Amino acid sequence: MAEIIVMKAVNAENELYAAQVKEALDKRGILLINLLSSPGSGKTSLLEATLKEWGGKYRCAAIEGDLFTDEDARRLEKFGIQVVQLNTQGSCHLTANMIVKALEKLDLKDLEFLFVENVGNLVCPASFNLGEHKRVTLLSVTEGKDKIKKYPKAFYTADLLVLSKIDLLPMTDINLEDLKQDFFRVNPQAGFLSLSVKTGQGLSQWLEKLENWRRET
Ligand code: MG
Ligand code: ZN
Repeated sequence: MAEIIVMKAVNAENELYAAQVKEALDKRGILLINLLSSPGSGKTSLLEATLKEWGGKYRCAAIEGDLFTDEDARRLEKFGIQVVQLNTQGSCHLTANMIVKALEKLDLKDLEFLFVENVGNLVCPASFNLGEHKRVTLLSVTEGKDKIKKYPKAFYTADLLVLSKIDLLPMTDINLEDLKQDFFRVNPQAGFLSLSVKTGQGLSQWLEKLENWRRET
């Protein structure tokens, strides 16, 4: 019982910051995408592929959530975009308060897309609204077929599921249709995309999705 009360209080505070983030970005027409997944599902690789494909077509920035390192931030800085590194010092998720602080470090003028790479973890990042317009959960085919059932919140709160490393599908025991069914059972409204940044399969659909979202908001 006590635990539930604490969680509620934390979430209520988080929601206030999330609203603050959303308001600041809406005012400037910036689309915020929150990327969620386990470690190693390809969040940074997907962002690299996105920035490479666009080649400066849109003004993008990224907020990188990591426990300690800044390696992913460095990977994205190579594309000439603004990157803020958030080191959580061991905390396993980002909160909206951290995003408020990161926004202070960014020049928001003329920005079109702001990507947040959450800490790699399928559990608690799902419980923290960062003020995002869209939440994208990545799942790589190498993670096995049980993740949607085991960590439902990361999947039912997503606007889009990106099934990554689809080129490796033949090496796994995943049945694509079964996996889709598992997903749509917990989240019938969301989108589903499979892609591989290695072969480029599905990338154009991903980019199209981002552009459509931007047009909608
Ligand atoms: Mg990463
Ligand atoms: Zn956490």
